[in-house]
Amino acid sequence: MNALPVRDDLVALAGYHSPQVSVDVRLNTNESPYPPPGGWRAALVEELATVAFHRYPDRGAIALRRALAAHHGIMPEQVYAANGSNEVLQALCLAYGGRGRTAAVFEPTYALHSHIARITGTAVATGERDQDFAIDLSEVARVVSEADPALTFLCSPNNPTGRADPSEVTEAVLDLAPGLVVVDEAYGQFSRWSALCLIVPGVRGGHNRPGSDRLVVVRTFSKTWSMAGARLGYLVGPARVVSALEQVALPYHLDAVKQVAGRLALDYQAEMEARVALLVEERGRLYSALGQMEADAWPSEANFILFRPRRRKGSEVWSELVERSVLVRDCSSWPRLEGCLRVTVGTPGENTAFLAALTEVLE
Ligand code: PMP
Repeated sequence: MNALPVRDDLVALAGYHSPQVSVDVRLNTNESPYPPPGGWRAALVEELATVAFHRYPDRGAIALRRALAAHHGIMPEQVYAANGSNEVLQALCLAYGGRGRTAAVFEPTYALHSHIARITGTAVATGERDQDFAIDLSEVARVVSEADPALTFLCSPNNPTGRADPSEVTEAVLDLAPGLVVVDEAYGQFSRWSALCLIVPGVRGGHNRPGSDRLVVVRTFSKTWSMAGARLGYLVGPARVVSALEQVALPYHLDAVKQVAGRLALDYQAEMEARVALLVEERGRLYSALGQMEADAWPSEANFILFRPRRRKGSEVWSELVERSVLVRDCSSWPRLEGCLRVTVGTPGENTAFLAALTEVLE
């Protein structure tokens, strides 16, 4: 008997992977190169000793959401937390997408937006960014008028291009798009402006701006908070959206350990900001060094830089970097990113090792 085939629409969907090659310098998945602060680790261990592991965790993750709300100056009812921001995106698609509904994306952008949409049975309407990878508002107008999307995804700063959307663009998209506008700010702390300004009361017109009741901002603990291993992300948005997401979440989806881990992390904001400052400085060093090489690099407001070797094939450069024990992301076969690679900003030592290896490869 033949094994039961999977859903027809899954067959066409390739997975999303970055090869985990064993190397000394791993600059391929945009994590923080630094472990979390020692004080956080000690506080976590201490508090874990008191967790009632025989009981289910707090289903509403109240203490964590209160702490996040205090961190952003909003109400706990405006916060939804899940297992990484990818799971937040999945919950959004489950609640607002699905059969007969469409999500709009503007390529090139984070591949999981369209991937998660399709897995949840949501149709995807694709628009193109302009030649500098900025959001093109006439293209947004075209896509939303043709597809009437229930969800419109922005990604700021955008992965993998590094470009952030300014407030005028975000507000213009909010005016054009009919449904929810999801701003994925996985790298938001590296950028100069955040769409949270359009939600948080008292900040630049804040939540009183027309349309801001359709805006949600998604953040993660995986990058700036140095907690990719904990799998924790969250959304800030209207309370009615948070209630809808709670409806599609599995019971007790957020385990007790990460509820504590996330809440305690927020006590170390100053340390987080110091790391962000260091990474931004190193990003500047990487960007100018790339500018001296036979490569074109795009300005970035995130913790990574997209670049394209001028005279060598991207995939060959990728392999030759791996031979030198440096792993970056090979984007060279992605649409509109022919020949491109993406490097995560690492520690100063890792960045120096990357630049030395790349210099050798490009010479
Ligand atoms: N959004 C963007 C733009 C990302 O680059 C990533 C990580 N690659 C995520 C979301 C997912 O992050 P996580 O699930 O670890 O929170």
